[in-house]
Amino acid sequence: MKLNRRGFIGATAGATAALAAPMVRAASHGRPKVVVVGGGAGGATVARYLAKDSQGAIDVTLIEPTRTYYTCFFSNLYLGGLVDLNYIAHSYGTLAAEYGINVVHDWATGIDRDAKTVATAGGYSIPYDKLILSPGIDFVEGSVPGWDISAQNEMPHAYKAGSQTELLRAQIMAMPEGGTYAMVAPPNPYRCPPGPYERVSMVARILKQHNPTAKIIIADPKPKFSKMALFQDGWSRHYDGMIEWVGPDFGGDKVSVDPGAMTIDIDGEVTKVDVCNVIPAMKAGRICEMAGITDGNWAPVHARDLRSKMDDNIHVLGDSCAQGDMPKSGFSANSQAKVCANAVRGELTGSAVFPAKFSNTCWSSLDENDGVKVGATYEATDEKIAKVDGFISKTGEDAAMRQATYEESFGWYEGITSDMFG
Ligand SMILES: Cc1cc2nc3c(=O)[nH]c(=O)nc-3n(C[C@H](O)[C@H](O)[C@H](O)COP(=O)(O)OP(=O)(O)OC[C@H]3O[C@@H](n4cnc5c(N)ncnc54)[C@H](O)[C@@H]3O)c2cc1C
Repeated sequence: MKLNRRGFIGATAGATAALAAPMVRAASHGRPKVVVVGGGAGGATVARYLAKDSQGAIDVTLIEPTRTYYTCFFSNLYLGGLVDLNYIAHSYGTLAAEYGINVVHDWATGIDRDAKTVATAGGYSIPYDKLILSPGIDFVEGSVPGWDISAQNEMPHAYKAGSQTELLRAQIMAMPEGGTYAMVAPPNPYRCPPGPYERVSMVARILKQHNPTAKIIIADPKPKFSKMALFQDGWSRHYDGMIEWVGPDFGGDKVSVDPGAMTIDIDGEVTKVDVCNVIPAMKAGRICEMAGITDGNWAPVHARDLRSKMDDNIHVLGDSCAQGDMPKSGFSANSQAKVCANAVRGELTGSAVFPAKFSNTCWSSLDENDGVKVGATYEATDEKIAKVDGFISKTGEDAAMRQATYEESFGWYEGITSDMFG
């Protein structure tokens, strides 16, 4: 598909709109149109900020198939019995009712970059002046031999929250006494670097209560992982003897699974397991690939405004983009969304644009009241989003400090979800 590098011209957008049928809405009263694909950490935030800060000067459409968004953040705490499923469930009602966002519950199935329209599974063609994609991740097919998406009921990934998370929790609770939970950890880069290891902590927590002789094996292709010393210290303090981490030195990078037999093969050693949580290698949400704006796996963007390096009228946020030093996290996606909203609003309405600044913190719960964190601030350079400085919890911190970090993570959760959904 040919690149379309035209800037916003009202008349052109009107002509484009006239070609598109059927339309979701008849008219946007001459306002510039922004279409956001994906209503998660990046997409819901950018839609809300554009609608709120432009005070109606921009016509914002949000395309998201699910009516309830389950946050991946804190889904591990649901597995660990620390929050219930309702706690991580959010709806789009406030974005529509209070912010005037046109919420379309549908899948984006194609992008015509010349006509500047988004096609949906429901048969709509939605015109845009600016398109913002924040579709999260998809899995790299064949990255774990023996596993594909048709095996996700036997061997769940639970790396997109909702029914998969519920299924994994049910499987954990149904494990026989003294049974084995295996995790296949993903290679870099992937969403939420500490996510698999927080999950192991939370699975160990619930097993310690209900099935204390159960075992956890993690097969990992990476020689080290985020907050490794903090996790290993936490595992030995809370779950001593329950968790075996198998890194690449011991074959953690040579893994296949058999969902029918419920076995995992780690470097030729086959083990029968009761739960197998396969987290495959990841890539940008498929719609980025369909738009032709990826480097094969991820969508490269400019640091200052998250604009695609392949199309001036498209921005990509969150897990899908290749931006530099920020980890793929909900906090990062939310931070990028605010920078992007500011830049897009400036371009469409002439409002002031502030220099891009970003931040991220990833909290992880080792147990109830035992939280650790890692974080950093970032700035935009010509080359990438570049780390400025960072911080990380220390092993040996006292219980009061760990409890404060744990409680801080709940404060963050309340803050980010109201920043996303109003
Ligand atoms: C177990 C786990 C724990 C985590 N813990 C944390 C944490 O503690 N802190 C943190 O900051 N981050 C955490 N994360 C990471 C965080 O969830 C992601 O980085 C974040 O959600 C990325 O935001 P996003 O907007 O890129 O994607 P998402 O939030 O996944 O949103 C993508 C949305 O796009 C929609 N979509 C996809 N394709 C289409 C399409 N074609 N058409 C329309 N809609 C589409 C999807 O339905 C989805 O709602 C965790 C992740 C996991 C898996």
